[in-house]
Amino acid sequence: MRSAIKDYYKVLGIDRNASKEEIKKAYRRLARLYHPDRNPDPSAEEKFKEINEAYHVLSDEEKKSEYDRILRSGDENKFRDFLEYIQEFIESIVKGEREKAKKPKRGQDIRLKLYLSLEEAAFGTEKEIEYERWIDCPDCEGKGVRGKAETVVCHACEGKGRRVSGIFSFPRPCSVCRGKGFIVKNPCPTCFGRGRVTTHAKIKVNIPPATDEGEVLKVPEKGHFGMNGGKPGDLYLRVFLKEHPVFRKVGADLHMEKLISYPLAVLGGTTRVPTLEGEEEVFVQPGTECGSTKTLPQKGFPTPGGRGNLIITFRIEVPKNINGKQKKLVEKLARELGEEGINRSEGIGEKLKGWLKPS
Ligand SMILES: [Zn+2]
Ligand SMILES: [Zn+2]
Repeated sequence: MRSAIKDYYKVLGIDRNASKEEIKKAYRRLARLYHPDRNPDPSAEEKFKEINEAYHVLSDEEKKSEYDRILRSGDENKFRDFLEYIQEFIESIVKGEREKAKKPKRGQDIRLKLYLSLEEAAFGTEKEIEYERWIDCPDCEGKGVRGKAETVVCHACEGKGRRVSGIFSFPRPCSVCRGKGFIVKNPCPTCFGRGRVTTHAKIKVNIPPATDEGEVLKVPEKGHFGMNGGKPGDLYLRVFLKEHPVFRKVGADLHMEKLISYPLAVLGGTTRVPTLEGEEEVFVQPGTECGSTKTLPQKGFPTPGGRGNLIITFRIEVPKNINGKQKKLVEKLARELGEEGINRSEGIGEKLKGWLKPS
């Protein structure tokens, strides 16, 4: 007949004269292997409870010597009394671990870069964001197995979760069981036992006006899914401004260059320039020099407190292709201005021909 006295040494797989250190080591290894948080096998919880019971007794000097006496005597009644005495404590440990294992865990946050045009950032917009996100596996409801889990101890690491392999001389997480120490024999084929799958998410995000480079927009609960009913993490979007074909943003000010013709620069007048809101007419002072600037107040980038300026730098356009009539006019102007060394219409070639003609 099998004795009703549990052999705690056998439970931990150690000798009866094992040292305190050996008891602790054996317990740690087994507790990790059968922890309800890590091992989905329904029988693991019972085993975990037994391991804790054994360790609780053998790690406490007083309880250990009491237990050793009962074990030697083989008195089953005494053991029952002893068990009653320690039971409440054991229950509380296991209950605590079980609750910890089932405690909801918040999902991880996701951080993405968000590129906006100056116009989008200035005036706000709605953006569609596409990204990869972990969600609960729809086929196993995030459990990693369909129905009842069956596990076996990992043969590669013998349940340790770590082993020496490859070029490393120190133990590393076991690649066969991914550090768990056991292998689920019937993993969910959809998620390969992970309990989660990636999905291509597509969401619409409202970008508020006056969103500046470097700002981080938080989209609540659009990160990875949580565990055990925990809330999803958040999605964070770090704003980057795309290069603009016309404007260069310096703080809240926008800078741009405007090419104007020589006559406009000399005589003054009006010209059209782009702004964030569309084209606008600006006045060019007579005698405007190349490189001089004009500031349009409050036409720059909006800020929560106001708005920057638009600063226009004028450049004088030098035409490369002009027709005969325009050429004549420029030459006339050159003569008027007393410009000596100019290339005239007849050209230097004509002059040379004249000199070379035999007299
Ligand atoms: Zn392993
Ligand atoms: Zn699954």
